[in-house]
Amino acid sequence: MLSDFTVNKPSDRSTRLTVPDVVECHSLPVDSRVDLVDALARPAAQQPTWGNQERAREICSALRDAPPIVTVAEVERLRRRLTAVARGRAFLLQGGDCAETFADSTEDHVRGNLRALSRMAATIAAAGGPPVVRLGRMAGQYAKPRSSETDPSGLPAYRGDMINSLVPTREAREHEPFGMIRAYLNAAAAMEYVREEVAVEPMPTYPPLRYDGAGPAASSGGLHDRHADDADLNMPEICVSHEALVLDYESAMLRLAGAGRHAKLYDLSAHFLWVGERTRQPMGAHLAFAELIANPIGLKIGPGVTPAAAAEYVERLDPSGTPGRLTLISRMGHARIRDVLPPVVERVAATGHEIVWQCDPMHGNTETSSNGYKTRYFEHIVDEVEGFFEVHRALGTYPGGLHVEITGEDVTECLGGSQNVVEADLPRRYRTACDPRLNYRQAQELASVVAGLLAR
Ligand code: PEP
Ligand code: MN
Repeated sequence: MLSDFTVNKPSDRSTRLTVPDVVECHSLPVDSRVDLVDALARPAAQQPTWGNQERAREICSALRDAPPIVTVAEVERLRRRLTAVARGRAFLLQGGDCAETFADSTEDHVRGNLRALSRMAATIAAAGGPPVVRLGRMAGQYAKPRSSETDPSGLPAYRGDMINSLVPTREAREHEPFGMIRAYLNAAAAMEYVREEVAVEPMPTYPPLRYDGAGPAASSGGLHDRHADDADLNMPEICVSHEALVLDYESAMLRLAGAGRHAKLYDLSAHFLWVGERTRQPMGAHLAFAELIANPIGLKIGPGVTPAAAAEYVERLDPSGTPGRLTLISRMGHARIRDVLPPVVERVAATGHEIVWQCDPMHGNTETSSNGYKTRYFEHIVDEVEGFFEVHRALGTYPGGLHVEITGEDVTECLGGSQNVVEADLPRRYRTACDPRLNYRQAQELASVVAGLLAR
């Protein structure tokens, strides 16, 4: 029972749960159990150090019995849509906060982010682009990998509301397993709200928004009259995603579907899970966990990835050649994408796997402003997206998607865009709990750029 838990102070220090704890309550067939034990026994980067391990164990046990946040049928529909993306017949638009917070798990915030995403999709579709598959970075994005153990003031780093608090005190930075319960409940509520919003406004028909000269071409039909035969693409549905980071939580959300030889293991904390740049160690637990689950999965690849390593990831994460099973999310930085991405794409294309290529133009373009804010230049983000399209067009592969950090609010976190946000504006409405997001206007301008590139 989830209601059995109240917040206690951490007592002793220990690392993540042991493997037997994690799997004991799963009624998995022997094979899956063995695989899961093997996966979770591997070294895992970026894991919480729960203060009270007994409590963490109880919480994971309650989560294993709780209803899932998403359904297998929804996950399978998303996978079929991603098949269309992999084959160049649809475009994957994924976006939302870098880090969701419990304080911002409000109707206003979720609605704002949802509408920012939907309007971007409408701009792309209205410009004669392909049908757009909307994928929220929401309803579960509560844990963050960090490049440093401590923050600039020397306190343990904030690791997302699932783990600790942004409040800058030593006590608030303790790793508190109750965060997993709050993450689950907020994610479940947000997912229910997403389903309701989609029921009310299936696919908004906003007019396309223009950005400089790169505005979209005149409308030549949208989602509903292209590929009208494709039931999954035409069905308005917004799926959700987050980084599969905290293995105690993700493994507690595993559910077995089907029977006998056809049984599959799904992580029903979200429809789509991705493995981040900092946790993709080939021998590590995150990769092994991703191998085990039947959800469509993403893998972030930064400029350090070699073509051979990329091909190995593809063979491992898509062993049976299921189109749309794997999305490679390149985040190379605008200055390097044109050099680094081509050999990676060529080598992966040679494997014959039908994967989705998605561009994350955010994470390779983060810098610190002269007044001390973590920020990104809108122009660098646009340049990386343009580079991504150039590379794929030159190689004959399909630039299938965009992965962005956005919010529906009028924040001042990224520089530039038509509003010309400058450094002095950053302190005005800098609200992110982690990385700088495009505000509503900047997000729409980026969608307009993408629409123009897709229409070419
Ligand atoms: C993120 O998507 O917020 C993130 C941490 O990305 P990456 O793993 O690519 O650095
Ligand atoms: Mn981020």
